[in-house]
Amino acid sequence: VQLYILPYGNCVVDKGRVFTGPADDGVLITTPIWGALIDHPRGKVLVDTGMHPDHVADPLVRFRGTPREGLITPVMKPEDTPMARLAALGIAPEEIRFVVNTHFHFDHCGCNAWFPHATFVVQRAHLEHARESSRFFRSDWDVPGAAWLLPKGEAELLPGIRLIPTPGHVPAHQSVVILLPETGWVILAGDAIGLMETTEPRAEVQAWNPSLYRRSARHLLRMQDDLGALLLYGHEQRTFASWRHVPDFYA
Ligand SMILES: [Zn+2]
Repeated sequence: VQLYILPYGNCVVDKGRVFTGPADDGVLITTPIWGALIDHPRGKVLVDTGMHPDHVADPLVRFRGTPREGLITPVMKPEDTPMARLAALGIAPEEIRFVVNTHFHFDHCGCNAWFPHATFVVQRAHLEHARESSRFFRSDWDVPGAAWLLPKGEAELLPGIRLIPTPGHVPAHQSVVILLPETGWVILAGDAIGLMETTEPRAEVQAWNPSLYRRSARHLLRMQDDLGALLLYGHEQRTFASWRHVPDFYA
């Protein structure tokens, strides 16, 4: 089993209004967008698919004239898609068996439609929430003819790959826990932890449900301690830069 971290570009975001709280309103930070390929003997698993390629030519295509204009500005090059990152590894989209989405925000499922042969894996309650909500771009994740695997809570996707519910950022967000032969345990937290400072006691956090967010983040941090795991999370430039990126990998 090998784990590849796939860079999908960046977003310039208003730190206070997107991650922390009013004390940081108007502070612009650059946040990495990323996903991962798990090359497992039973099939290739893609975790999150980044932003829609329309953002390459027109960064504001989704946000111009909406309340999020100025809060989130994508910065995306043609190579910042899972299709391009996989092609550089010699992997075609049809080879992906499962596409796992931590959740359906635009920076996590924007290229789902390029993987129509895959089975899409998201918490059942998240899919149900997204269907009722206007906060998700339906065309990104509602892929015509898609096959779904919809766990209710914790589940083993393949031997050594577990999905764990980490609600709070959004309803029924999920994280992925992987056991690698050399590296040991790795936690792909997704946005269960956006910036590490949001996990500090008394820190403010922008989330659908801040108290659930804190509980999920604490759960992951405890798991990191207990398992001695490598914790890969959210949208923090400094820590992201310290990880191995493609073509390098974790084995
Ligand atoms: Zn995100």
